[in-house]
Amino acid sequence: MLERLSSFFILIMAGLLSSQVSANTLAPLALPSVSSTATASNTPLTAVPSLAQWRADLRMEAISQGIAPLLFEQAFAGFSPDPQVIAADQSQPEFSRPVWEYLDSAVSSWRVARGKALLVEHAKTLQAIEARYPVEPSILVAVWGMESSFGRQIGSKNVIRSLATLAYQGRRSDFWRSQLLAALHILQEGDIIPSGMLGSWAGAMGQTQFMPTTYRQYAVDFDADGRRDIWNSSADALASAANYLSLSGWQHGQPWGLEVQLPTRGFNYALADGVQTKSLSQWRALGVTLRSDTANGQNLEQQPTTLFLPSGHQGPAYLLLDNFRSILKYNNSTSYALAIGLLSNALEGDYRAPAAWPKHERMLSRQERIELQTLLNQLGFSSGNPDGIIGVNSRQAVRSFQQVQGLPADGYPNDALLNSVRKAASKAY
Ligand code: CA
Repeated sequence: MLERLSSFFILIMAGLLSSQVSANTLAPLALPSVSSTATASNTPLTAVPSLAQWRADLRMEAISQGIAPLLFEQAFAGFSPDPQVIAADQSQPEFSRPVWEYLDSAVSSWRVARGKALLVEHAKTLQAIEARYPVEPSILVAVWGMESSFGRQIGSKNVIRSLATLAYQGRRSDFWRSQLLAALHILQEGDIIPSGMLGSWAGAMGQTQFMPTTYRQYAVDFDADGRRDIWNSSADALASAANYLSLSGWQHGQPWGLEVQLPTRGFNYALADGVQTKSLSQWRALGVTLRSDTANGQNLEQQPTTLFLPSGHQGPAYLLLDNFRSILKYNNSTSYALAIGLLSNALEGDYRAPAAWPKHERMLSRQERIELQTLLNQLGFSSGNPDGIIGVNSRQAVRSFQQVQGLPADGYPNDALLNSVRKAASKAY
């Protein structure tokens, strides 16, 4: 997916919503995943068999699943693990990118202008797709723009080699092995020739950056040439994304979210925990107001929404509707979903710059996040295993700490919060 947009950051700083269905390789994998992300996992390495032994085992398994021996030999001719893939898999960036910088590059003027031109150029195809899989063209073009810069950057890695490298290495090898076997099935089904099966280092393929298992389940042949070609056919790619979003619960005609203004005093920021839902009327009763009249004329009053503060209580605030969750199923990163939402608004000519971001704030480094988690655990606020990844547990621990300390309980770990935690810890010990 979005290595170039620093997906590692998105996961840690923008908040994984554990209640969401997973769509990346960090989260549980029982449900379909579209993109795979560049994160290191803590799965311990198991003993690695010899390459020849591993290949022989894989070959047997593939053939037992119906893969032709000749195809297997072709796909693995001259195979050697790709050192770049190993390096990418093991990289753990020390510093992460703030959400506003991510959004600046995601919703860039180039991407908006190019997306608008493509909406016109592909209007007929997009309308036909919308008629079959009810998802708005602006959303599909936004996904297309984010995943592959509208088909320009589909990745240059041979998918079989990347996935075989990851499957052989031992880290999360079961997941990668199942993706590898799915990729072999795709080759066998004749949708793409081996040399054309290109993707990211993590095996996300083509213009939609589908993982192989997602491809097998959701890719469609919209231009009816007999092949589901998400690499070379924009119609197939856009329709495949539409099919995926539609089956992920996308509700045509509904917004993804609405930017709101919170009261300046006395607001309970702990309501923004991603779990509690309220209707627009209930939020209004708490002093929350819409920043624009987008919702006028739409029947949104009784829709359940959650409050989302991407950079804590000092930044913009959004009420999220169910469609935001559908985008998260494509890629389980709240920054990604926010970027898709804002980009689609911009493509519809309905973009308004969000309220001011706290750009004066410094992001915590990985080391500082580990320190924060360790100290919170010591203070009795259970933050889970200190791994530098700020997930739901860490956010809840931060929120509880803030409540005890009488701080705005937004669950957002910034520099000031770390200092407060340090202070409390030094008093306690
Ligand atoms: Ca096709």
